[in-house]
Amino acid sequence: LTAASGGGIVAYADSARAEEAPEPPPRKKKVVVLGTGWAGTSFLKNLDSSRYEVKVISPRNYFAFTPLLPSVTCGTVEARSVVEPIRRMFEKKGKDVAYYEAECFKIDPTKKAVHCRSAVGTNLDGNGDFMVDYDYLVVALGATVNTFNTPGVMEHCHFLKEVEDAQKIRKSVIDCFERASIPNISEEEKRKILHFVIIGGGPTGVEFAAELHDFLVEDLVKLYPAIEQFVKITIIQSGEHILNTFDQRIAVFAESKFQRDGIELSTGFRVIKVSDDSITVKCKSSGVETLVPYGMAVWSAGIGTRPVITDFMSQVGQGKRRALATNEWLRVPECDSVYAIGDCSSISQRKIMEDISTIFKVADKDNSGTLTLKEINDVLEDICIRYPQVELYMKSMHMVDIADLIKGGVGDSNKESMVVNIEEFKKALSHVDSQVKTVPATAQVAAQQGYYLADCFNKKDHCIEHPEGPLRLTGSGEGHHNFRPFRYKHLGQFAPLGGEQAAAELPGDWVSMGHSTQWLWYSVYASKQVSWRTRVLVVSDWTRRFIFGRDSSR
Ligand code: FAD
Ligand code: MG
Ligand code: MG
Ligand code: MG
Ligand code: MG
Repeated sequence: LTAASGGGIVAYADSARAEEAPEPPPRKKKVVVLGTGWAGTSFLKNLDSSRYEVKVISPRNYFAFTPLLPSVTCGTVEARSVVEPIRRMFEKKGKDVAYYEAECFKIDPTKKAVHCRSAVGTNLDGNGDFMVDYDYLVVALGATVNTFNTPGVMEHCHFLKEVEDAQKIRKSVIDCFERASIPNISEEEKRKILHFVIIGGGPTGVEFAAELHDFLVEDLVKLYPAIEQFVKITIIQSGEHILNTFDQRIAVFAESKFQRDGIELSTGFRVIKVSDDSITVKCKSSGVETLVPYGMAVWSAGIGTRPVITDFMSQVGQGKRRALATNEWLRVPECDSVYAIGDCSSISQRKIMEDISTIFKVADKDNSGTLTLKEINDVLEDICIRYPQVELYMKSMHMVDIADLIKGGVGDSNKESMVVNIEEFKKALSHVDSQVKTVPATAQVAAQQGYYLADCFNKKDHCIEHPEGPLRLTGSGEGHHNFRPFRYKHLGQFAPLGGEQAAAELPGDWVSMGHSTQWLWYSVYASKQVSWRTRVLVVSDWTRRFIFGRDSSR
């Protein structure tokens, strides 16, 4: 955060001129937010918008509750129930925020402006382009789908990223059933049309497979009894297991449930080409290629970078990276006023070995050239805030205190009386950086980052007056403000598996699976709704589904 240019100095200059005619209040700094997804809305909800002139730009004038998108694909929940209009969100919170329905196609960090194109219509010049300047820019553009340049994927596969995608899938599933019901279609053709293939065994692909399976066995088989026997669902996964970001126990549970359900798991296969009626897969171990005929395919194999982000990255010299890198305070290090949150960005955690000499000097208060246990303990809290990997490393090695870590570096000296020189200190910490963790691309992370950044913005003035804080420890260039770096708190994750069963990974290495977990899922996702309106809609959709089943019209 650029403390020096903040409001505190402006306020001071104003009070010096207080005897003269009343001055207009200092101009509010302009904050421009790109994107109204998880990260952007979380930032906006928590930002004190009276302190800033806030403008929001996004081509979609609603927030989408993405965890329920798989439920939209089969009509378990209606599309309208999982979206909340952006303007309503601001109005409800009494926020003074301007919203432009437009797409940003270029960020210009030297002019401090963003170039946008209207998503709705054209302006008087005949094109919908306009420019918005900023003092601070918050980039929360999310990610796009990643086809890994596999031929045919863009043309023939469905994706599951946006609300429109979920609606298209729903229509397409019913299409397949109606097409396969037309008379004079061969059995082989029916099998092909009713083969639903999901590429990617991550949480989204797995949840969609489960939804689709429920839709088939609970609703469609009753409506299309003549073609029931031709239906098949396949998940193609390049790794050895599905749900590989989850606890192993959950992956095993999911795999055996899917086996019982008759969902086919093709693990260890890579999709190399997709045509209008078949998918070419290659077995990773044998190299043998096979053609898989299909009726509908959903690609959920990974996320990629949006072109506007790629362009911005090359402007600031991050051309070789896959996501926009920020420091631990979520600022793009190459620009003093651009921040990035959510799926479009990734935090690059500072390595402790880069700062080790500075840390040693700061800790060595008596300039003795060695550190005592007390000297180390005095700076330990600061170190752990700045370099979370220290704690993670000690935990992974089952170490109780820092002395254990240091002793490893200096041999078997007595804990209390030990002293270390710089070489020993370096040696003791040399493996710590191996524990640096990247945060996942999830709604949970995006929302926490948005909240954290808004908090920083709200306290900016305060921090100019009180620049002390734990971060003065190292010369990383961020030492002049007293915010703690962003730290992700993992609250667990769910994997709904269909048939009213779910698996959950909860904090503290807890794993829970089965029917009761599904009820936990219902209550968590009902409570996480962004408004009472969507909460009522979602819960009544679930109730409707329980009583009447899903709607199978298009
Ligand atoms: P997004 O939410 O994608 O928001 C990006 C915003 O930027 C959108 O408003 C978009 O319209 C806007 N935008 C795009 N391009 C431009 C442009 N050029 N100019 C201006 N604005 C633009 N995470 C979980 O934690 N739990 C789950 O259960 C879960 N389930 C998921 C299920 C599905 C089907 C999907 C697709 C994702 C799921 N996720 C889940 C992941 C989660 O949705 C993302 O991590 C999260 O949305 C990231 O938030 P974001 O704000 O970075 O991006
Ligand atoms: Mg966003
Ligand atoms: Mg979103
Ligand atoms: Mg991210
Ligand atoms: Mg000393």
